Amino acid sequence: MTSPGATDTVFAPASGFGRAAIAVIRISGPASSALTAALAGARPPPRRLSLRTLRDPETGDVLDRAVAVWMPGPATFTGEDMAELHLHGGLAVRQAVLRALARFPGCRLADPGEFTRRAFLAGRIDLTEAEAAADLIEAETEAQRRQALRQLDGVLGRQVAAWRERAIDLLARTEAALDFSDEGDVDDAALDARLAGDAASLRDAIRAMLADGRRGERLREGFCVVLAGPPNAGKSTLLNALAGRDAAIVSDIPGTTRDAVEVRCDLGGLPVLLVDTAGLRETADPVEAEGVARTRRRMADADLVLRLAPAGSPDRRQEDGAAVPPTLAVATKADLAGSASGVEGLAISALTGAGLDALLAAIQGAAEAALGGSGALVTRERHREALTRAVDHLDRVAGLGGLPPELVAEDLRLTVRALGTVGGHVGIEEMLDRLFAGFCIGK
Ligand code: GDP
Repeated sequence: MTSPGATDTVFAPASGFGRAAIAVIRISGPASSALTAALAGARPPPRRLSLRTLRDPETGDVLDRAVAVWMPGPATFTGEDMAELHLHGGLAVRQAVLRALARFPGCRLADPGEFTRRAFLAGRIDLTEAEAAADLIEAETEAQRRQALRQLDGVLGRQVAAWRERAIDLLARTEAALDFSDEGDVDDAALDARLAGDAASLRDAIRAMLADGRRGERLREGFCVVLAGPPNAGKSTLLNALAGRDAAIVSDIPGTTRDAVEVRCDLGGLPVLLVDTAGLRETADPVEAEGVARTRRRMADADLVLRLAPAGSPDRRQEDGAAVPPTLAVATKADLAGSASGVEGLAISALTGAGLDALLAAIQGAAEAALGGSGALVTRERHREALTRAVDHLDRVAGLGGLPPELVAEDLRLTVRALGTVGGHVGIEEMLDRLFAGFCIGK
């Protein structure tokens, strides 16, 4: 029997769309060998780039003159037999080859992420490495690239796997105590105290990793700066002025509604998301009211709010009394105010450009304080949830004060499971193996 889904051979363009010098098509699955041979005349030697004339296996038509690579499993990314075709990167070439591949028996176009999924299912990578591969492709700034690469290297996966091993050990000890508690040769109280101490130290190690100010997640998502203030404060003009500068703007994203426009930028290697919002004011127009409601939500979620008001206008900070994130007061239209004396915070003029460098520096400083220092290993809410669950279970074990061993074992089992979900391994067979190997005393 073959495992489900593993019998298909899948293929997909691995390089981008559009015209390019080279287009790479990747193939994985049992038919890779036959397929490469059928296209290239004969199968190229393993792991060597070979220049070949590719022909349509049905018609014999020449499709391209291309480089073909054949890589036998299991020492491949997916663990399966794989091949790559490096074609001339034109649309018609690529289409012709993809059509020929699709007609080959047992072959189909890969689903999104299917190569990585196969790599995971084959145990070549764990879930954190699969996520890191996705993050690396998405990375737009240096700090994001470094973080994704660290995770791809398995730093998070290895750390959590080591913790999981410790939890499995604790579980094995508890199970052993359960099995042999009737024999009177195990000092229950001493075991409990040691177990509680070990559980507490494991819990504290995990907690220390979680106490990172969500740097990793924020670095993935970008440091969110919301431009807020009354209509005509100069928000849109400021955003345009910032977008038009050499602040390494990555892209303009028109908001999905009329209320917000986002600009992603790279400030000193950190991803910063600048969000222009609808003016805060009372309105009877339901669409605009929705815009204002969204503004308030975005402000609440922001990492930094720039509260804009024309220089010399009254301070409106007391508007809604709600708790707001760190806020920087920015006096706009400084060119109109004559001298900017008495202005709290920064004074800028989007028109003349005065103060914009100082403003960008202030934003970068705030982003560095929030995201910098790197080293955060938790990069997704999924990791945080699983690790928090593990901490909760360990907390109960650590304070066990006479909890029945069955309940301790259950909490430890759930700890192992929670830690296992981070890397995508669940199941406690390993614990059983270890238990029987380590406590083999003739029973
Ligand atoms: P928003 O409603 O807060 O987005 O404000 P806008 O960016 O649309 O600006 C409102 C008005 O103020 C427009 O007429 C802008 O041209 C003007 N304005 C914006 N920034 C400046 C500035 O730095 N100096 C001057 N003189 N006018 C500005």
